[in-house]
Amino acid sequence: MVQDTLQEAKTYIELEDKYGAHNYHPLPVVLSRGEGVYVWDVEGKRYYDFLSAYSAVNQGHCHPRIVNALKQQAEQLTLTSRAFYNDKLGPYEKYITEYFGYDRVLPMNTGVEAVETALKLCKKWAYEVKGIERYKAKIIFASGNFHGRTMGVISASVDPDATEGYGPYLPGYVIIPYNDTEALAEALKDPDVAGFIVEPIQGEAGVYVPDDNYLPEVARLCKEANVLFIADEVQTGIARTGKLLCCDHHNLRPDILILGKALSGGVFPVSAVLADDEIMLTMKPGQHGSTFGGNPLACAVAMEALEVVKDEKLAENAERLGKLFRQRMKALVEKSELVTLVRGKGLLNAIVINTDGYRDEDSHTAWDICLELAKNGLLAKPTHGNIIRFAPPLVMTEAQLQECCDIIEKSILDFEKGQ
Ligand code: PLP
Repeated sequence: MVQDTLQEAKTYIELEDKYGAHNYHPLPVVLSRGEGVYVWDVEGKRYYDFLSAYSAVNQGHCHPRIVNALKQQAEQLTLTSRAFYNDKLGPYEKYITEYFGYDRVLPMNTGVEAVETALKLCKKWAYEVKGIERYKAKIIFASGNFHGRTMGVISASVDPDATEGYGPYLPGYVIIPYNDTEALAEALKDPDVAGFIVEPIQGEAGVYVPDDNYLPEVARLCKEANVLFIADEVQTGIARTGKLLCCDHHNLRPDILILGKALSGGVFPVSAVLADDEIMLTMKPGQHGSTFGGNPLACAVAMEALEVVKDEKLAENAERLGKLFRQRMKALVEKSELVTLVRGKGLLNAIVINTDGYRDEDSHTAWDICLELAKNGLLAKPTHGNIIRFAPPLVMTEAQLQECCDIIEKSILDFEKGQ
């Protein structure tokens, strides 16, 4: 029996290897079921999910209320395109704009589509409202950014994995260091700058939390220069960092807000761009869109997913458990020579692995630790070589979190002894 399921796992891995593009390098675990903070592999082994599909499953796997909303709507109407009105989009638009406090929303599907939408909106606004000479507009990005994988977005990336072999890249971008307001102030002297797009915490880069005064200063400088402050909260939004939005930690309201991932609780691709009239109404019929954007299924799912965030007080839970998690990891830093640092906000955290003297290649140690964690029933993935991101579903209880910290501690200390 065990032999059969092992064979089954191997078969699934081989199928992906043989028939799929090799654009990912997954951990060798084959999952077939999820519920709340747990996932199970095809062998029936249970794991704590400490990635949450890159923060898309904040509400927990297969949340019954969200799945129920999906089922009910799936039996009614799934897709109309925007050629016609439907009875879900309007109520959803009212709901989400009131929820986040903006005049309007533009619904899309994946995170990167929402980012592209925000960049296009920013340019339209630059020409039609700010009055920048046509096609001279520039947008500022922060080094180390991750906004997705389209040409329009990787053109601003400094990660060779994301850019190598994909040129020519899009012009009109200025890249400045992250967490550097002096560099921003300097870049904003250029009158052709239309916007600055920034992640409130750089998740993909390795959970880099900027200085406390960074975002408030960004907002102030952008306002002063009449430049749009665009927050990419695709990963940090929807309660992940201990507030509904990461910008809420500073009571900031970006000019354009980008959301995705947990907007659907990981049930369906749903993303959104929120802005006020002056920006959003620069786009006219036919100038932007998506066949699936704003489909009734997405609207029903997103409304329920956002209700769950409020009803289950997920932001408050993330804030409380995040503090406990970092306390436990700080204690581990004291005990372990392998873990040098923990950083993060709410339940978006990372530990940095000291690779000196352990393995030849940086990336192997963190990868091997993730294999050890998986063996002990917890799934996480290295990001950028020696950093391990920890982002469990926000429905976790304190007892579960303590158990997870025990697993992480044991795995790392055992791994260290085995070196
Ligand atoms: N923006 C940020 C900050 C992200 O972290 C991601 C994905 O990790 C994206 C955009 C892209 O989202 P998607 O993969 O849904 O296109």
